[in-house]
Amino acid sequence: MEERGSPDGDLARSLEQGPEGPETPIQVVLRVRPMSAAELRRGQQSVLHCSGTRTLQVSPPGGGPEVAFRFGAVLDAARTQEDVFRACGVRRLGELALRGFSCTVFTFGQTGSGKTYTLTGPPPQGEGVPVPPSLAGIMQRTFAWLLDRVQHLGAPVTLRASYLEIYNEQVRDLLSLGSPRPLPVRWNKTRGFYVEQLRVVEFGSLEALMELLQTGLSRRRSSAHTLNQASSRSHALLTLYISRQTAQQMPSVDPGEPPVGGKLCFVDLAGSEKVAATGSRGELMLEANSINRSLLALGHCISLLLDPQRKQSHIPFRDSKLTKLLADSLGGRGVTLMVACVSPSAQCLPETLSTLRYASRAQRVTTRPQARKSPVAKQPQRLETEMLQLQEENRRLQFQLDQMDCKASGLSGARVAWAQRNLYGMLQEFMLENERLRKEKSQLQNSRDLARNEQRILAQQVHALERRLLSAYYHHQRGPGLTPPCPCLMAPAPPCHALPPLYSCPCCHICPLCRVPLAHWACLPREHHLPQVLDPEASGGRPPPARPPPWAPPCSPGSAKCPRERSHSDWTQTRVLAEMLTEEEVVPSAPPLPMRPPKTSPGLRGGAGVPKLAQRLEALRDQIGSSLRRGRSQPPCSEGARSPGQVLPPR
Ligand code: ADP
Ligand code: MG
Repeated sequence: MEERGSPDGDLARSLEQGPEGPETPIQVVLRVRPMSAAELRRGQQSVLHCSGTRTLQVSPPGGGPEVAFRFGAVLDAARTQEDVFRACGVRRLGELALRGFSCTVFTFGQTGSGKTYTLTGPPPQGEGVPVPPSLAGIMQRTFAWLLDRVQHLGAPVTLRASYLEIYNEQVRDLLSLGSPRPLPVRWNKTRGFYVEQLRVVEFGSLEALMELLQTGLSRRRSSAHTLNQASSRSHALLTLYISRQTAQQMPSVDPGEPPVGGKLCFVDLAGSEKVAATGSRGELMLEANSINRSLLALGHCISLLLDPQRKQSHIPFRDSKLTKLLADSLGGRGVTLMVACVSPSAQCLPETLSTLRYASRAQRVTTRPQARKSPVAKQPQRLETEMLQLQEENRRLQFQLDQMDCKASGLSGARVAWAQRNLYGMLQEFMLENERLRKEKSQLQNSRDLARNEQRILAQQVHALERRLLSAYYHHQRGPGLTPPCPCLMAPAPPCHALPPLYSCPCCHICPLCRVPLAHWACLPREHHLPQVLDPEASGGRPPPARPPPWAPPCSPGSAKCPRERSHSDWTQTRVLAEMLTEEEVVPSAPPLPMRPPKTSPGLRGGAGVPKLAQRLEALRDQIGSSLRRGRSQPPCSEGARSPGQVLPPR
């Protein structure tokens, strides 16, 4: 295999510049798998041709224009597993992991394109039939190399491994002691995204690591479909944690955290699949949708990472579990290698082109590799000196603080304590007082609300009575059956305006029933004015209609205001009006009155207007009752016999 131009060489060169080297692009190696026996049987053609070690040419069937793609390395179907391992430069990644870097190798491509084969080799052909060593994948080869390398290192190295899968957007521990259960993905500042409660197993030999791999592979979800007899239905992540413990390094502070050091992670992605092509139904289709969705999220993150403005823009790594766990490899401080796998078959051309475009984009994504540093153990002698210095400084500062306190207050220690106690006592008293006042305020507010409610109810009743009075008055004046239009009807108005005419004087253009402002032309002569019995407070805060009763003395010409103060004479005037009622039945134009006035609460605060209103209501009821009785016993008054302007003496 040609070493020149391999990603191994490029990567080594770019990272040789130092542990916090320059931005490093994701390395992409393309692997073309051989035509399968089934594809050859169906007579399908290969549409992919390698040109040199880095370029792939795509010749669409039917003589379409050729398209060329360039990658770190292109490996055609003739390349062996060992060739692939060397070309990918995984040993170099292992070296970086030993120096504290976080490295990732992930395979990507359409389902059945050879991703799992590339990473872990073919599945065993039967129970107890071992896979020939020549077919072992990148992972087994890396494990063998790493353990050999560790043995020849001068310093002890701790090796641990975890293995998980993301199946239907749930993280499952493939090394868990019991049956795998979903694990949460969390984030913190030092670790970035990590899987909580993931089992991390320490191992010391290649056999132990191979066993862990086999355990995970056997527990991983896979199913058969049209394009692959052993299709992976989940994304699988095997991570090796490598910590070199030198004489000057301290062990990890938190026992729950993996030891500080490098990482080497192998990600076998589930392949994107067209459900129509694979014939997936039911559960298979659900799995396919979940796989496609997470791959879409990965593609989206890669596209955004290519944005030159990406430093300011947000990368949606949180969109899927996969992107969360690959966040560091894609855009963080890791070193990443992508092995894109494609099928040469013409039938797979659309997916192959999509993979090639995706991989081309990915190799323009850069990371800024950075090794995790272990806290270096300090010399005991130096530590002791530092501690003594700090203690001395602490004593000096304490002394200065005491001096400043005494000078500032001018008080002795005992007096300071007394003052503090008193201040504290005062504060407590204030707090209690505050609490008491708060309670009182809330009681007052409740009382006020109750009073307002009662006031409103009483006002409604008074209003209804007033309407009955008006109605009766009109019948008495104009005879039954006549209902002249309300002046307010000239403008849009509420339904209460279907009542007898309502009059207003020039100084108070307001309908007495609904309090709608009236136009000047709607006013009738002053002597036709009707009584107004509503308390100003009951009008709901609207401006008081300063309307004098028909029998009130006319407003003086120079005066702009009519007298509005209500007095005992108002009630007398109402009575006069009531006496004018005729024997005709008064048809109530308001809801029936309750038999008794509502009870008022004597204990209510702020409701002084309520008993007054209740009294008025009672008086009004009496007046109506007596008027009705009289009206029945007397013939209707003739027009002018008693004008509304006439005033009777008070009772
Ligand atoms: P994927 O993981 O991409 O879905 P697999 O790795 O499971 O695909 O491969 C699908 C089938 O193709 C398997 O039977 C596998 O053995 C075979 N295969 C893939 N790549 C190669 C290769 N380079 N040489 C021989 N067989 C291969
Ligand atoms: Mg697979």
